Amino acid sequence: MKNNLTMDKLVALCKNRGIVFPGSEIYGGFANTWDFGPVGVELKNNIKRAWWKRFVQEDPITYGVDAAILMNPTVWQASGHVASFGDPKMDCKKCKQRFRADTLVEKHSKGEVSAEAMSDEELMDYINKHHICCPHCGGFDWTAIRKFNPMFTTSRGTLEEEADKVYLRPETCQGEYVNFLNVQRTTRAKVPFAIAQIGKSFRNEITPGNFLFRTIEFEQMELQMFCHDKDSMDFYNDYKARALKFATDLGLKEENLRFHDHDKLAHYAKAACDIQYQFPIGWQELNGIHHRGTWDLSRHQEYSGKSMLYLDPFTNEKFIPNVIEYSIGADRLTLAVLCEAYDEEELGNGESRIVMHFHPAIAPYKIAILPLQKNLSEKAKEVYATLCKEFMCDYDEAGSIGKRYRRQDEIGTPYCITIDFQTLEDDTVTIRDRDSMNQIRMPIEQICEYMHGKIKFE
Ligand code: ATP
Repeated sequence: MKNNLTMDKLVALCKNRGIVFPGSEIYGGFANTWDFGPVGVELKNNIKRAWWKRFVQEDPITYGVDAAILMNPTVWQASGHVASFGDPKMDCKKCKQRFRADTLVEKHSKGEVSAEAMSDEELMDYINKHHICCPHCGGFDWTAIRKFNPMFTTSRGTLEEEADKVYLRPETCQGEYVNFLNVQRTTRAKVPFAIAQIGKSFRNEITPGNFLFRTIEFEQMELQMFCHDKDSMDFYNDYKARALKFATDLGLKEENLRFHDHDKLAHYAKAACDIQYQFPIGWQELNGIHHRGTWDLSRHQEYSGKSMLYLDPFTNEKFIPNVIEYSIGADRLTLAVLCEAYDEEELGNGESRIVMHFHPAIAPYKIAILPLQKNLSEKAKEVYATLCKEFMCDYDEAGSIGKRYRRQDEIGTPYCITIDFQTLEDDTVTIRDRDSMNQIRMPIEQICEYMHGKIKFE
């Protein structure tokens, strides 16, 4: 990673500059939860807005929803999440990958041993006796077997009985599937069309960590494209290209991104790939693009009893649409953006600065308004009051101008406006560019137009 960026350095900057704080910090924290601070919340919101603009606002066949986090528990039976409850899982201590112990045994015995009926003890004995190694890294260092389901549960009644158990959704996409019929009916959309959503998901991750990379509560930005089988591979490839373009348009460098096609697929899937980003911890999944076949709608048809058949008005063909899913974590993408933006620059005069080179469209603050001296604050506040109606602005009158520039560089503010004595005379200000550090002088009345031109997300 450029400039030897480490996760520790990034976490320290984020804490000091109000980007991200450890969750519940005054109580000693709560592992793998993070709170976005005043600066970070702007960054993440801007990323979410940019995604929504690109994939919903600018796409005439994509419709948004905001579905409930708590869903009818049968949804999680249809999705397969409840059935996997009680699967005997074990983790490789070396590479942290998790596996089903029964699958390991069955694979090793080439299907000769039926592991389904084996107790945990029997499974463990078999694994030890046959020295079954981790299929991922080849190590032989297993945790004990645990019955584990990554879904958090809560209870909707007052009795906390099994029948009242509900789940915090582990993925947002089920909210799109269960609204397939509603959206199609109310928008009169014809297949192909997509449903998109941004919302929180929760996973009781056993091996979380690495700052925002893997947390137990996170936001997903997901869309499901419902299409005919014959068009499905085209949509799959199209979303691969669109997902990559979105990432590079946000400022992630192409050399830090790569496709990772899956060779092992879920039984219902026709194709799957991740886009990986080169984080300081190495190449890791940034988002997924999955061709899920007709699995999801078929399952919901089976469990809800509602027909998911679509009647094509042009061909009169009846079919259950295929689903192409594009899913990206808003927090994980924010982490990638933070890593990419981070830079340490030597300024030549023995000084250096940390600067976050965010694309101006997603920078937390677009403008900082800095009166050169305190007795100029009245005019500066006037300018702030005008500009904050159009842009997220910061205001700072504390400390030397050099220190104030450094603070803004560290939170990636693309433009600093300085109010000086000349401003009082002719209503002009200086505008300093974060990246080049060049300054120009401009009448206050021209700032809005100038800024709008600079911060566009195309
Ligand atoms: P991983 O292999 O990293 O666990 P996954 O394959 O389980 O991810 P999906 O279920 O496809 O991920 O979720 C889609 C996206 O949601 C991921 O690409 C990632 O950006 C984000 N995501 C998934 N799990 C987490 C998590 N625990 N914390 C933060 N983001 C997550």
